[in-house]
Amino acid sequence: MTDIFSDILGHEHAREGLIHAIKNDRLHHALLFSGPSGIGKSMIARSMIQAMLCENSTREQLQKCMKCRNCHRIASNIHPDVIEIDEPTATIKIETIRDLQKKLIYPPYEAARRFVIIQDVHKMQDAAANCLLKTLEEPEPHTTFILITSQIQRLLPTIVSRCQLVRFAPFSMDEISQFLVRRGMTEDDADQISALSGGSIGTALELSSSEYEKEVTSTFEEMLSPSSSLDAFLTASGLKGKKSMAEHLLTLMLMFVRDMLVLKTDPNHPIILKHYRPQMMSRLSRTTEKDLQRAAGIIQEVHESFQGNVNELVAWERLMIGLHGVIF
Ligand SMILES: [Zn+2]
Repeated sequence: MTDIFSDILGHEHAREGLIHAIKNDRLHHALLFSGPSGIGKSMIARSMIQAMLCENSTREQLQKCMKCRNCHRIASNIHPDVIEIDEPTATIKIETIRDLQKKLIYPPYEAARRFVIIQDVHKMQDAAANCLLKTLEEPEPHTTFILITSQIQRLLPTIVSRCQLVRFAPFSMDEISQFLVRRGMTEDDADQISALSGGSIGTALELSSSEYEKEVTSTFEEMLSPSSSLDAFLTASGLKGKKSMAEHLLTLMLMFVRDMLVLKTDPNHPIILKHYRPQMMSRLSRTTEKDLQRAAGIIQEVHESFQGNVNELVAWERLMIGLHGVIF
């Protein structure tokens, strides 16, 4: 037997709130799980349902055995009383919500309570959202909704107000780093990947299991090496076509500059990109704090320009020439 969320990392606040509500039989009929992608919202939802339906547990125990028929069927997504809407399309259409409502007319098949999970609920078109709203406004006693979103700002306020909001914060870099080290990664690699993960375990795992991370690292190291402004131009033209990596490269570059700012004040202070400490130290004597702040500004400016419709080569040149003489 496993305690309800004991195999899940972090999110103590959300977990405790849910456990308290379930044990006191006060779980809201519509929960809205909000937070960045890849941080475990769906895992928490599934674990919660398992613990509530497990044949070998009680509401007071809130455990999941992972052996009984219910635990198994929930894990493989085939429990008849757990309905999941997970549309591969860009929107959730009103027909999907109407089909769901038809199923909700009948009582649950076997369990005392039925669960409806809607993934990426922000993809509902307005008509679909208004249709769902009716169901949320007139809750029927057997159904618990778990609406999951990474973009709560796209939801109609009326939907949000009908739900109990459960917020999931991104993980700290330390938490992700420790998680990766426990999985056998070296500390240096773990630090670098956690820095790029944006607080998402999903992204961290994706980065750590792919060639992508290696390519980002080698590109980043090329970016650190130009010895002249001509070299900086050449590096910029070599970066053309790597727009998909821009987000991660610019995050690394910004961290590099921030770490240098930290070292400028205190050379013994812990930094994020420990691996690059020697490169940072060798550059410190020829840069001022003001230079570094200007460099951070340029990186942010280029980062913003990549969000829009930018000429890619111009953006890379702006970055490489702007940083030349400061950190190269
Ligand atoms: Zn079970």
